[in-house]
Amino acid sequence: MTQGTNPFESLQSQIDDAAAYLDVEDDVIERLKHPERVLETNLTVEMDDGSLERFKAFRSQFNGDRGPYKGGIRYHPQVSRDEVKALSGWMTYKTATVDIPLGGGKGGIIIDPAEYSESELERITRAFAKELRPLIGEDRDVPAPDVNTGQREMNWIKDTYETLENTTEPGVITGKNLASGGSEGRVEATGRSTVIAAREAFDYLDKDLEGATVAVQGYGNAGWIAAKLIDEMGATVVAASDSSGGIYNPDGFDPVAAKDHKNETGSVVGYEESEEEITNEDVLTMDVDLLIPAALENAIDADLAEDVQADVISEAANGPLTPDADAVLEDKDVFVIPDILANAGGVTVSYFEWVQNRQRFYWSEERVNEELEDHIVDAFDSLVETIEEHDIANPRTATYVVAIQRVADSFEEAGSFP
Ligand code: GLU
Repeated sequence: MTQGTNPFESLQSQIDDAAAYLDVEDDVIERLKHPERVLETNLTVEMDDGSLERFKAFRSQFNGDRGPYKGGIRYHPQVSRDEVKALSGWMTYKTATVDIPLGGGKGGIIIDPAEYSESELERITRAFAKELRPLIGEDRDVPAPDVNTGQREMNWIKDTYETLENTTEPGVITGKNLASGGSEGRVEATGRSTVIAAREAFDYLDKDLEGATVAVQGYGNAGWIAAKLIDEMGATVVAASDSSGGIYNPDGFDPVAAKDHKNETGSVVGYEESEEEITNEDVLTMDVDLLIPAALENAIDADLAEDVQADVISEAANGPLTPDADAVLEDKDVFVIPDILANAGGVTVSYFEWVQNRQRFYWSEERVNEELEDHIVDAFDSLVETIEEHDIANPRTATYVVAIQRVADSFEEAGSFP
């Protein structure tokens, strides 16, 4: 992992790569490379022992041309202003890739949540919600889960917002549990789109998914669901890892039992069906048909990319490849389905949740999954069309061409104020 690669610079270079193929004015492209605004705030929160602790937190609203800002909130020691800015930009192009009427935003708190009690986390989350209150709202900015946050945190934020606003507005945030107005299928959605996109890529490349071997780096919500669903599609998951290390069995293993093991012990390491304990790096460079990076940014740098042996990569994580790694993989003809398409299922079902909240009318899981399938397949078809129309070698660049054009169109239609 290259600590040195700044994700915001990665975002900007991805936009530059696509701009070369676009008929969009340079000054509009310039606008699309920067967030509209970033909140930086310090939360002072009482700990269980009565002491006070300070936490730095951010919310970046990157672009609202196509609708309310949309994107998750992460809790991680590595959160930084530039990371949040990059992630909010990726959200902007993600919502445009799947053509949902939302913009892009992202937030984060610099914290290792494992070091705090549940009641401390609740106070920290509610303190952040209080700071976010003037910025968010179902027509303004709609947060969601991201790394180390989930339904619990979303429910706290919704409750804080509704209490302070003296209203009911479940669509102020997505990724809630069902009882708080969540959607069927939301928890699985990121992993689901990662495998739908992989299936489409295999089809496009005339490769068989049945019997294909798969390695998954990161075994959180996105990674383990992707492993489970790809196994159900007939592929064989041979390797998986989390922050403690990896497991390997050339004949494959049961991804659900591996998750159960992680739930019990805190890691996939030690899972009984594993034949060999391997490192995170081994998982990324394994000789498999499909690699699913499902952890954090910059997992693969240019050096590691030289050793990657997978034919297809479906990015469940945001920003797992550095731009240099992307270039190496392009030279090696590895088909990389970019994050803004592969993991867009999460925000797509967040959009469905928001629609259901506003209508106070809830869909079946079957309907959610069918609509999700349509959005991801349409996005993949647009990617293929763009690759062929412009003769673009890199699928990420082609995806950005589609997405930037959509954002630029809505900006140019409306013009700027004042
Ligand atoms: N955090 C997820 C992402 O990076 C989901 C965002 C959302 O649902 O708004 O796409």
